[in-house]
Amino acid sequence: TAPGVEPTVDDLPVRPELRGKSPYGAPQLDVPVRLNTNENPYPLPEALVARIAERVTEAARGLNRYPDRDALELRGALARYLTETTGHPVATAGVWAANGSNEVLQQLLQAFGGPGRTALGFEPSYSMHGLIARSTGTAWVAAGRGADFALDAATARRAVEEHRPDVVFVCTPNNPTGTAVPAETVLAVHDAAQAMRPTLVVVDEAYVEFSHGSSLLPLIEGRPHLVVSRTMSKAFGAAGLRLGYLAAHPAVVDAMQLVRLPYHLSAVTQATALAALEHTDTLLRYVERLRAERDRLVTELRAAGCEVTDSDANFVQFGTFDGPGGAAEVWRRLLEHGVLVRDNGVPGRLRVTAGTPEENDAFLDAVRAVMKEYD
Ligand code: PMP
Repeated sequence: TAPGVEPTVDDLPVRPELRGKSPYGAPQLDVPVRLNTNENPYPLPEALVARIAERVTEAARGLNRYPDRDALELRGALARYLTETTGHPVATAGVWAANGSNEVLQQLLQAFGGPGRTALGFEPSYSMHGLIARSTGTAWVAAGRGADFALDAATARRAVEEHRPDVVFVCTPNNPTGTAVPAETVLAVHDAAQAMRPTLVVVDEAYVEFSHGSSLLPLIEGRPHLVVSRTMSKAFGAAGLRLGYLAAHPAVVDAMQLVRLPYHLSAVTQATALAALEHTDTLLRYVERLRAERDRLVTELRAAGCEVTDSDANFVQFGTFDGPGGAAEVWRRLLEHGVLVRDNGVPGRLRVTAGTPEENDAFLDAVRAVMKEYD
């Protein structure tokens, strides 16, 4: 660069595959109604806030030492949560935790993907699957979904047989569509893949607590190549905590140990997550409310004339906007009404996160107003 001119990132010797790329992230705009990042709208209850303060105070007294590198107490509490909510016995050795499920997914690709290997996903889906693949040097292949964004066993099996991936992502309920994927499809993916080569199948259940159906976690039994990934960001209302985890055969956890940074989970994070897990029952009651609000959004959006994808998550995909400007134009007009939703790039569709009843009312009023203008 010329003297006096500040270099940009592209003037630095970054890896060629990062050149010209933009960072992932929804806009964090300061508007009255923010329904764009699938957060839980309810702040943590005061009793839990106080318990976090207690636990963190205790942890602070030991901050001169590194934290428990294996996070055994936390993994034990997560294992109990999974056992109680799925009815499937999960042991501490079969649970791994990291800073958000994004880090869990990154560690999975560091261990099972990488140069010369390929990961497959069924799009539209969570875009970080492909982005983390790329940043770990893993080739990314996107297969499609069927009508209404469903993923049936035959379609999924064909994609696996065609691309022969090393890692497959199945997101259920799927972000951004809200679609649940049946166990039959995951089993078809798993069996078709293993018939060709030992393939890791990652079931991303970030939103499963909001589902009408049950977790696919029991499928890990007897299948050491099947991993279920979870997070405390959504159902536990703790997106700011950054705590994700997985359940799998203990051998998968051993693989995570090979790629994790030492002491990756801070003592403060471990203490906070343990406090939140003590309040699981209260937090899951908020989930009940959000499921009811999600169902109300589906009904009301349909009544307003929108086409709505059935949802098993805490968000709803709606459209179809194929007038001038498409979904981007509707996104902009909703923002003018003070409502921020998400344009995930699915043609003609937008995604709204279920908020509090008041936020959802404001959103529905805005949609009705915009639909009138748009007609
Ligand atoms: N998986 C899916 C499907 C998601 O939508 C998200 C968050 N948007 C994540 C994983 C990552 O969440 P976190 O890192 O907060 O656990």
